[in-house]
Amino acid sequence: MAGGGVDPTEPVDIRYDNARARLEVDWADGVTTAYRYEFLRWKCPCAECAGEMGHPGRLQFVQSLAPDQYRLTSIEGVGLYAVRPTWGDGHDTGLYSLRRLRAMGTEAADDEAAALGLDGPRGRP
Ligand SMILES: [Zn+2]
Repeated sequence: MAGGGVDPTEPVDIRYDNARARLEVDWADGVTTAYRYEFLRWKCPCAECAGEMGHPGRLQFVQSLAPDQYRLTSIEGVGLYAVRPTWGDGHDTGLYSLRRLRAMGTEAADDEAAALGLDGPRGRP
């Protein structure tokens, strides 16, 4: 266990690998988590995708994403707490908090394992 006040949700390094279409984060406690772009896009937390105040978001009405929707064109840090990806369709309103990314690490690993050996989009995680 990490002691001495290390915040495990503090990222040490954030890399994106367009060849493998995955985002990788090294955390202060030595853990590395990885997220397929398609997985990340399904998890877009913005109001348009995920809904808000009891209203469903538009991702709840689709079964698959177009390739442009999960092609990462850039990603920027937002303060010290979040990252904001820009996707191939121009969508850039999703702020992914680092705390949430860390919490999604296990689910992302399961998703990647399930996607191994499959070609193309897998659909909703
Ligand atoms: Zn969104």
